[in-house]
Amino acid sequence: MKITKLEVLHYVAPNMKIAYKPLSWNLLKVSTDEGIVGYGEPILEGRARTVATAVHELGDYIIGKDPRDIERLWQDMYKGSFYRGGPILASAVSGVEQALWDITGKWYGVPVYKLLGGAVRDKIRVYSWVFGEKDEDYVEGALDRQRKGFNAMKMLACHEPLRYIETPAKVGELADRVGKVRQAVGKDFDIAIDLHGRFSPAMAKLYIKEVEQYSPMFIEEAILPGNHDVMADIARSTHIPLATGERLFGRWGYRDVIEKRAATILQPDVCHCGGILELKKIAAMGEVNYCAVAPHNPMGPVAFAASLQCDAGTINFLIQEQSHMGEGVLKEPFVQKDGFVDVPTKPGLGIEIDEEKFSHLLDDGSGHLDHWYDPDDGSFSTW
Ligand SMILES: [Mg+2]
Repeated sequence: MKITKLEVLHYVAPNMKIAYKPLSWNLLKVSTDEGIVGYGEPILEGRARTVATAVHELGDYIIGKDPRDIERLWQDMYKGSFYRGGPILASAVSGVEQALWDITGKWYGVPVYKLLGGAVRDKIRVYSWVFGEKDEDYVEGALDRQRKGFNAMKMLACHEPLRYIETPAKVGELADRVGKVRQAVGKDFDIAIDLHGRFSPAMAKLYIKEVEQYSPMFIEEAILPGNHDVMADIARSTHIPLATGERLFGRWGYRDVIEKRAATILQPDVCHCGGILELKKIAAMGEVNYCAVAPHNPMGPVAFAASLQCDAGTINFLIQEQSHMGEGVLKEPFVQKDGFVDVPTKPGLGIEIDEEKFSHLLDDGSGHLDHWYDPDDGSFSTW
């Protein structure tokens, strides 16, 4: 079998929002001379067209090759042309790698996880995002997820630029929001909080101390990744687990976090970390150090399908982020029941694109993430 063509389509999935606005996703179709087509989601949020270009460049290395030689092709794609990793290349490789697994699974007639050692669980726990601007939005959103059967959610700690150190009133206001959500959903429901790398280390410590009383499941990106000594310092200052990983690429990106014990919950994103097998390798590195894995995924349904293939057979898996179950994109969307999704049973990634519906979702891939500026002085502020 040989790879014959790589095609990237930009689209906006129905009801798909990241933060407050819809964003373009990429659907990669990899064709073969055997007629088997594999799907992947090579995407970096807000950079759909850039990643699509990178995918087409990777096509130069892999067209004409056997798609089942995944590790071999991965080495060539990730390490070839001198420069390795980074958000654009790692995301492009991740999407191609997912499609190669989809083809390989379809060829052998088994789900991808069967080729990676099989499943260790019968169903996969998932959590949902809750967005909002006011406290009531978060409370109502949390109750809505609870009614829908979820037993865990994630919320942003804030939705505005923060000063390096905020006033006690502001810290209290942000913490109270979590308190109101906890009050509404009760204690038998997990609340994860994403600080989104928006907090300074000093602010992160102040905030975490205030929200500890509401027992969040984990604190995500307490500070920007990169200086893991500082993140480790925050980790030592609280009993709440720190989580990080969506902006780390490949095993090499995780080494420092794990060795310095800067986080105990690793969040590789199957669309950024290097793909399905790379996520499994990162999980194995984490297992040795008693880290759990909560794969990041605010992306579309192909990314969710690829994530589930990792989760099924990863023993230190904690919970899967999900944003889109495939309604309006997949012929058979995934179904969440009591906070879980069944382990997929169909070959490859286990999905079929509804081509008719999908043809109405296409866009030009131009959507970007928000840019924020400090209301005090107009300087750039991390979104
Ligand atoms: Mg995050």
